[in-house]
Amino acid sequence: MVRSTILVVDDDPLNVKLLMNILEADYELLFALDGKKTIELAKQQQPDLILLDAIMPEQNGYQTCELLKKDPLTEEIPIIFISSLSDDDDEAAGLKCGAIDYITKPINTAIVKTRIFNHLELKHTRDLLKQQSSIDPLTDIANRRCFDETLLQEWQAMQRKKESLGIIMIDIDYFKSFNDYYGHAAGDACLKQVAVTMKTIIARPYDLLARYGGEEFVCILPNTSKEGTYHVAEKLCKAIEKLAVPHSQSQISDVVTISLGCATMLSIDEQLSSDFMIIVDDALYQAKKEGRNRVIVVN
Ligand code: GH3
Ligand code: MG
Ligand code: MG
Repeated sequence: MVRSTILVVDDDPLNVKLLMNILEADYELLFALDGKKTIELAKQQQPDLILLDAIMPEQNGYQTCELLKKDPLTEEIPIIFISSLSDDDDEAAGLKCGAIDYITKPINTAIVKTRIFNHLELKHTRDLLKQQSSIDPLTDIANRRCFDETLLQEWQAMQRKKESLGIIMIDIDYFKSFNDYYGHAAGDACLKQVAVTMKTIIARPYDLLARYGGEEFVCILPNTSKEGTYHVAEKLCKAIEKLAVPHSQSQISDVVTISLGCATMLSIDEQLSSDFMIIVDDALYQAKKEGRNRVIVVN
């Protein structure tokens, strides 16, 4: 099992050392001596938990905690305050700014270890649930919810970074007659095979392949040109034909094929993502109309 990573923060190196000695046998550890470095490390290293000192010069623990909770990159990392301020008001202030727990110094080793263990258990359960809620159980690729969320994020990123964004919509040809003839179980198996094959092509870290619904799939290709998007779509189309899943009921082939519509959005176009999806959908419709087993590119 992968060991959890904890970021230990205190402006006093002796306190950092004390905590690290207690935890080093069970966890991977990182440390920071100020708020700025804490935020930098949290963003880069994505620790599973942060132990945060409340009183630090310049940016104190409360301010650091608020900044971490405001940033989508770090908002889900649980924070435990380790503080010499033992007043109820101080504890309330810590919890109010987003920490999950508040432990007062001097610390009791057994209590600190147990609380950390419990919070990490909860974090892992949350991570697992989140992961499961974004995966399509049949094909094991991203589901519609994950697509919607990713599209929104990538749309904003594209506009911020002044890049382009490619979208490909994919629909299996004559899939109703495939199901009617070979049965629903064979239909499910076919959907899985198609997804697995496409996944080998949509392999860049920021690309997303998702099941859009039924026998429809969709790809998001961040920072990809018009030519690049078209190239990927062509590769998908050929790969599924080459997969050679027999389809005796198809009117255009004796194997399973797909139709694809694709378009590339440029940040200067200032369009809504929903309008853009309509354009891509129209391209897919066009691919169906023009004979299926092909790619139609718009814009
Ligand atoms: P076209 O070439 O125009 O795309 O025709 P089509 O038959 O593929 O399209 P249509 O939308 O008429 O039918 C889609 C079919 O996909 C309906 C249903 O039988 C099948 N389907 C949708 N979701 C699933 C699924 O999860 N499992 C299985 N086995 N079949 C599914
Ligand atoms: Mg369909
Ligand atoms: Mg179809």
